[in-house]
Amino acid sequence: MRPFNFEKVNSAPEALALKSAKSNYIAGGTNLVDLMKKNIAQPETLIDVTTAISNTVENKNTVITIGAMASNNKVATDKTILNKFPLISKSILTGASPQIRNMASSAGNLLQRTRCPYFYDITTPCNKRTPNSGCSAIEGGNRMSAIAGYNDQCVAVHPSDFCISLVALDATVTAVTAEQKEITIPFKDFHKLPDSTPWLDNNLPANAIITKIDVAENKFNKNFSYVKVRDRSSYAFALVSVAAALDLDGKRINDVRLASGGVAHKPWRWYDAEEFLKGKRATEDNFVEAAKLATKDLKPLSENAYKIPMLQGAIVTALKDCLNQ
Ligand SMILES: Cc1cc2nc3c(=O)[nH]c(=O)nc-3n(C[C@H](O)[C@H](O)[C@H](O)COP(=O)(O)OP(=O)(O)OC[C@H]3O[C@@H](n4cnc5c(N)ncnc54)[C@H](O)[C@@H]3O)c2cc1C
Ligand code: SF4
Repeated sequence: MRPFNFEKVNSAPEALALKSAKSNYIAGGTNLVDLMKKNIAQPETLIDVTTAISNTVENKNTVITIGAMASNNKVATDKTILNKFPLISKSILTGASPQIRNMASSAGNLLQRTRCPYFYDITTPCNKRTPNSGCSAIEGGNRMSAIAGYNDQCVAVHPSDFCISLVALDATVTAVTAEQKEITIPFKDFHKLPDSTPWLDNNLPANAIITKIDVAENKFNKNFSYVKVRDRSSYAFALVSVAAALDLDGKRINDVRLASGGVAHKPWRWYDAEEFLKGKRATEDNFVEAAKLATKDLKPLSENAYKIPMLQGAIVTALKDCLNQ
């Protein structure tokens, strides 16, 4: 690891004043420090923002505001979150370990880098780590890679669980830019597909600092589920995951949310399947049809065709679980 300077700041403006292309904000450090140890990230200065931004979860009228420094465990165990957004809690608790979740911040979770093994192996080409060097996964080991939304630049998947529930619930992310302007980004637009800039994971402007995540109250707190399929039942990233939530009127589906991790470069919403289910009865037959619709255009790579039936099963399981809360 290269030597670096360490600055602790007490406000977002102070953090922004220090930030440059050669520095990184650090929160829990559970991802960034690993990247520094492997010389993938080589900041000259770390700016500790843990005391610069809120770490609380606040209930303001009909919106819940999650401070960007609220730890993953704090969010998952918060009473308001458990009461109004239990899907968020359930998704977070499938991730990492209690120790990591205690350190990991909400902002850091959104900005964690992919787990593509080539990204972490500096001896191999990787467009995400070294722009325009190539992608080792496309023709190589791609068992964990994307089945949707990828291109020949990058086939990596977004690794977070928290983010899958946030995209399902139409959260927003608020940040302050280098010009000290507050911006709010709908969660569905926060992360990006690889396009011609696979080294960028999201649409956050350079040097901006995330301050909070907002989620508006909704009717998805009764019938919800998060299914995560992985190589072992704890301490592993998703092969595929499904966040599902139903707003039911008896057996009729008023509204539905369906999103997945382990599928694409960004948290993935299944909008066509949602449209199909709206107004229909909550039956297994309809859930199976929705899963088929969701997966009909997916394009597996050489080693990950198994993800398609796995995903169909996970969608049906998650939707059925919604009825058993
Ligand atoms: C062994 C292991 C297993 C894991 N398993 C899972 C899992 O199953 N599911 C899952 O979802 N996650 C998992 N994680 C990832 C973990 O959740 C993330 O590492 C964590 O959420 C990152 O948060 P942090 O505060 O430690 O971020 P840091 O490591 O401190 O920072 C991460 C990035 O965020 C940036 N950053 C931090 N705060 C801000 C801010 N306010 N504004 C702008 N930029 C900011 C940093 O500059 C850095 O680029 C795992 C991690 C490990 C190490
Ligand atoms: S899939 Fe993306 S992260 Fe993985 S090797 Fe290719 S460019 Fe790098």
